[in-house]
Order: sequence, then C-alpha cells, then structure tokens
Amino acid sequence: MDVVDILLAHQIKPSVQRLAIMEYLMAHMTHPNVEEIYAALSPSMPTLSKTTVYNTLKTLVDHGAVRMLSIDERHTCYDYRTDPHAHFLCRQCGKVYDLPFNAEVLRLMPLDTHGHEVEEMHYYLRGLCKQCKEDDCYSNTNQEITS
Ligand SMILES: [Zn+2]
Ligand SMILES: [Zn+2]
Repeated sequence: MDVVDILLAHQIKPSVQRLAIMEYLMAHMTHPNVEEIYAALSPSMPTLSKTTVYNTLKTLVDHGAVRMLSIDERHTCYDYRTDPHAHFLCRQCGKVYDLPFNAEVLRLMPLDTHGHEVEEMHYYLRGLCKQCKEDDCYSNTNQEITS
C-alpha cells in the first residue's frame, strides 16, 4: 500500500503535509518527536510550521494511522507501527526501542477492565539500553586502567 492509500484507508484526506509526515514516519521507525520531524521536513517544505506538524500528527493519531507514545512527559513521540509491541525507553540516551510483545499473554491472563472499553494499550519499559550499558562498561574499564 502506498501512503495515499494508507491515509485514505483511515479516512484521512491526503494533503501535501500529511503525506510528507506519514512518509517520514514510515521511513523512520525510530519514534521521532515533533521537533525531529519538523527539522527533517522543513528544509524541503519552507511553509511548514511546528504547529502544522503537531496538528497533522494529531489528525493521524485521531484516525488511528499513527500511535502517539507518551512514555514520560518529555518524550512524546510517534510510531507508524500500530501492531502490538512494547517500547523500551533508555533513560540515558532517550532512544525508544521496539520490543516484541506477545498478545497471547493477554489471552491467557485477561485483564479485568471493570466494564471499561479498552481501545489501545501501551507497554512501556524503561532502563538502560544495550548500547549505553556497553558504553558504561567501557568507560568504567578505562577509568580503572588510568587510575
Ligand atoms: Zn541508551
Ligand atoms: Zn514502536
């Protein structure tokens, strides 16, 4: 499916901005935030404003084409992958990683939702990512050698 079809499938009228932002999210599965998307697109779209990026993302989220992640208030980012998966936020580098999530778990251990209707679920994990852990080990070893 191309970007136009994806937008149409979610009842979103394809505008230049919407197409550009959707294309960006599909090409960059790194969970970018508003600033990153704006910085990447504004050189080729001089009329684009941060407010437009924000409002466009809101439309995409409202129609279910994109998911908004707010792991903490400083990290609102956007994800094109709407299939169930977990997110890991590194407290050091701030990167958000996708992790496989087995929806079977919920079938085996259903949540009691007290009659509320669940429309989306988020699985957030936080800690130190593999890369930062390795960097930490490396700098610790260096310190030991030099002291
Ligand atoms: Zn990290
Ligand atoms: Zn994700």
